[in-house]
Amino acid sequence: SHSVHRITSGQVVIDLQTAVKELVENSLDARATNIEEVRFLNYGLKSIEVIDNGCGIAPKDYESVALKHHTSKLAAFEDLSTVLTFGFRGEALSSLCALSDSVTLTTATANEAPMGTILEMDRNGRLRNSNSKVARQRGTTVVVSSLFKPLPVRRKELERNAKREFGKALNLLYGYALVPCASENRGVRLAVSNQLEGGRKTVQLKTDGSPSIKASVTALWGSKGLENIVDLDLSFDVLTEKTVLRRLDQESASVTTVKVRGLISKFAVGVGRTGSDRQFFFVNGRPYNPGKVIQKAFNEVYRSFNVGQSPFIIADFILPTHACDVNVSPDKRTIFLHSEQNLIQALKAALEEAFASSRS
Ligand code: ADP
Ligand code: MG
Repeated sequence: SHSVHRITSGQVVIDLQTAVKELVENSLDARATNIEEVRFLNYGLKSIEVIDNGCGIAPKDYESVALKHHTSKLAAFEDLSTVLTFGFRGEALSSLCALSDSVTLTTATANEAPMGTILEMDRNGRLRNSNSKVARQRGTTVVVSSLFKPLPVRRKELERNAKREFGKALNLLYGYALVPCASENRGVRLAVSNQLEGGRKTVQLKTDGSPSIKASVTALWGSKGLENIVDLDLSFDVLTEKTVLRRLDQESASVTTVKVRGLISKFAVGVGRTGSDRQFFFVNGRPYNPGKVIQKAFNEVYRSFNVGQSPFIIADFILPTHACDVNVSPDKRTIFLHSEQNLIQALKAALEEAFASSRS
């Protein structure tokens, strides 16, 4: 029934941030090179709109695109553990339909462009209307209006914390702006704006799509303090839990090589904003919520070499897909690294070595 669907939907889209995340990841999965605009109206309370130049949605998929568990992404993969696209469960669009006032897509594949079709969805993710056409280059625009309107308590909460929730969503978008698809070395242009009721539109952030992290940092915050930022380029071996278990079974041990690529500041000045807002973590190019322990490892080693609070960090953990579980948590922001303790020990040792050698 309706309510059951809404409750389970609540796990995929739990707040403004995850709503935005799902939309942006769909654009990246569609291989967009330009996320022309992520538009918030009134901090996203009124609507969130994501405009991309990705592959578009084919007419045969119009009916099913927002149905629960409809996905175009799974068929291509034999093994779930090797899934490299962000989505594969087909829950985001259906959740957004259930949890908002309305969801409207405008889309065109290369075949239909420059003619786009407007797809109006109902709460159950069914196609309500697809009779309107508009001019549209290849790509997809998704508009989600009045997020959480069907859930009055959650809507009130969002309204009460609108600025804070918007800030969290923006911080996440900084992540996509910094390391869009690092593992593929593919830059994505991204612009984010907010417009208040009756007010002017303000650009929140903008990148030019360079695959270089340093260029993205400059696009986002200017070049002030850039001279204090050095490349982070670590490589270390971690005994993974699976390996440990196998070893107990008297099988041969193997190790996982983890690389950490990005930037770190030598002094906590200049770039970015304050505190932990200046630390961005990724796994294989996906923004990732590292949890306190990994951040603490960086900060501790940093502080043993530097005076000051905590460094500016962009750290992309590059590791084989079998060493982490990306898609197990509902919001896909938590990525479980196997054997986190071993990983942290090795990470700290590698960081210490890097700091020590940059000293001498
Ligand atoms: P998933 O991403 O897990 O497949 P979603 O509910 O997020 O599930 O999206 C359902 C389907 O809608 C996707 O598999 C994709 O085919 C299509 N889709 C959604 N957003 C876009 C987009 N921006 N561009 C092209 N196709 C999209
Ligand atoms: Mg998706």
